[in-house]
Amino acid sequence: MPEAYTKVDHTYDVVVVGAGGAGLRATLELAAAGLKTACISKVFPTRSHTVAAQGGISASLGNMGPDDWRWHMYDTVKGSDWLGDQDAIEYMTKEAIPAIIELEHYGVPFSRTEEGKIYQRPFGGMTTEYGKGTAQRTCAAADRTGHAILHTLYQQSLRNNAEFFIEYFAIDLMMEDGACRGVVAWNLDDGTIHRFRAHKVILATGGYGRTYFSCTSAHTCTGDGNAMVLRAGLPLQDMEFVQFHPTGIYGAGCLITEGSRGEGGYLTNSEGERFMERYAPSAKDLASRDVVSRSMTIEINEGRGVGPHKDHIHLHLEHLDPKVLHERLPGISETAKIFAGVDVTKEPIPVLPTCHYNMGGIPTNFHGEVVTSRDGDPDSVVPGLMAVGEAACVSVHGANRLGSNSLLDLVVFGRAAGKRCADTMTPGEGHKPLPADADELAMSRLDRLRHAKGGTPTAQLRLDMQRVMQTHAAVFRTGDTLKEGVAKLDEVWARKDDISVSDRSMVWNSDLVETLEFENLIRQAVATMSSAAERPESRGAHAREDFPNRDDENWMKHSIVWVDDKGKARLDTRPVHLQPMTNEVQSFPPKARVY
Ligand SMILES: Cc1cc2nc3c(=O)[nH]c(=O)nc-3n(C[C@H](O)[C@H](O)[C@H](O)COP(=O)(O)OP(=O)(O)OC[C@H]3O[C@@H](n4cnc5c(N)ncnc54)[C@H](O)[C@@H]3O)c2cc1C
Repeated sequence: MPEAYTKVDHTYDVVVVGAGGAGLRATLELAAAGLKTACISKVFPTRSHTVAAQGGISASLGNMGPDDWRWHMYDTVKGSDWLGDQDAIEYMTKEAIPAIIELEHYGVPFSRTEEGKIYQRPFGGMTTEYGKGTAQRTCAAADRTGHAILHTLYQQSLRNNAEFFIEYFAIDLMMEDGACRGVVAWNLDDGTIHRFRAHKVILATGGYGRTYFSCTSAHTCTGDGNAMVLRAGLPLQDMEFVQFHPTGIYGAGCLITEGSRGEGGYLTNSEGERFMERYAPSAKDLASRDVVSRSMTIEINEGRGVGPHKDHIHLHLEHLDPKVLHERLPGISETAKIFAGVDVTKEPIPVLPTCHYNMGGIPTNFHGEVVTSRDGDPDSVVPGLMAVGEAACVSVHGANRLGSNSLLDLVVFGRAAGKRCADTMTPGEGHKPLPADADELAMSRLDRLRHAKGGTPTAQLRLDMQRVMQTHAAVFRTGDTLKEGVAKLDEVWARKDDISVSDRSMVWNSDLVETLEFENLIRQAVATMSSAAERPESRGAHAREDFPNRDDENWMKHSIVWVDDKGKARLDTRPVHLQPMTNEVQSFPPKARVY
């Protein structure tokens, strides 16, 4: 029997879990619409990973040359390697324009052109005229765009009287008959348990980069919402698609923004060759991230890496005007100094492809409503549950996300989810009582892990899982390495029974928090490895050496995956939405990739 915990009950119209860019944008919209809204976050809102976003946020404003949202839509569909849903992509690229102007009016301090317009830089895969020219589409606040957006959204949410529950750790959803009724959270500061009853729960819990050994994302990026969805018996989508950013600092993993190549930076191998000219003659160093990461890996594998072990690549910025570096890239200049000991005005930065972004996540429609395959309907809405941001798979990024499209995804779909609630809900509507066992799943899990008396520390199991992911679900994959990866994760899963938690307290127990997070991570690791093993083609970020071609006939479809309590995955597929939302644009049929 779980021991008695001090429990506090709350009732809200909507509860948002997560206070990154996506969660805050939704919270702001909901609070402004008069809905009683709580936003729960395990870290202080402005410490969410969004704060680290550097390069910028895309929108076809056309401030620095001709642009059109249809070109942006085409680039995004192409970047997704035709796995993105074209209705959602149309919505995002069209709504980008008002969403960015809105951010400007909320007070985001964007960098400016001479005329005082929002400054926009080129980014990988962003073109004009359906691939003919280079677009300058990425709106930037120097190289601290996420920081600027997150602070502004937090201030605006407070201004609209949103209520925050800060340093509360959400453990699990409360589900009843297939509908979400709320969420259970632990107040890390005083050890109390809080049951939030709500008509809608919006998961905005971010990505799960920490399944890998080397990643650019914060230690808090453990995909807790994704795991809650799996434990609720619902599937995740496209989990095999993990983006490796070409330029993580060698050794440390910290990100050097793609904006640095947007401003004129380039990569070289041990022969001093600008090798991207060979792999992508047209886009060169600004080819999409999957292409650059694979090219770098090939250079290293073929013996042309730099450094004593020939195991990384050089990124050059030293030819750029120091004024540009100072004004447009101050953050990464500092990061390179601290983490690589490099003065970017004088020498190249050592870089390596590093796990950066999860295209997969909780399947939703473009309103942010969670969907599942039920009774033959692949788009069946799960009542009471929504998801936005990196946790969600709308799917606008398909098999590969273009740089600067994630911050956009956060604000466009955060806003869309808020609007959907405002359109379909009445503030203050009554709630039925929660079932007696509503918090059973959360409490039994918390209690079991809190009193775990095994012999293996959580940190050891986490490291073992991260090493398996880094080796077996990397930039290049084969059927054999993936199968082996599934078996090795199975072993780590089995050792979970021997997990050891030494701190039994309920106040600031980071041992227990990390253990709950590890349980979340390993379910997603299984989802990623199993989905990758099941997709016999190469598409976007999923590069199979044994199946080098894209197979549109059999595999232009989303994969969906359930992971049960024994760590076993079950897979299925859903159709890709190839039809746009309106007749303002035509569907973009799949094309072979030319770079
Ligand atoms: C270094 C870096 C640079 C990037 N640069 C760019 C860029 O320039 N442009 C771009 O478009 N994209 C960029 N990205 C990607 C983009 O920043 C992320 O995809 C995005 O910020 C994710 O936002 P989010 O709101 O979904 O989640 P996050 O910002 O990760 O926030 C998650 C929130 O959920 C909360 N949370 C999680 N679990 C729980 C729980 N159990 N209980 C309570 N709260 C919980 C956290 O406290 C946090 O508030 C970058 C990513 C990284 C890592």
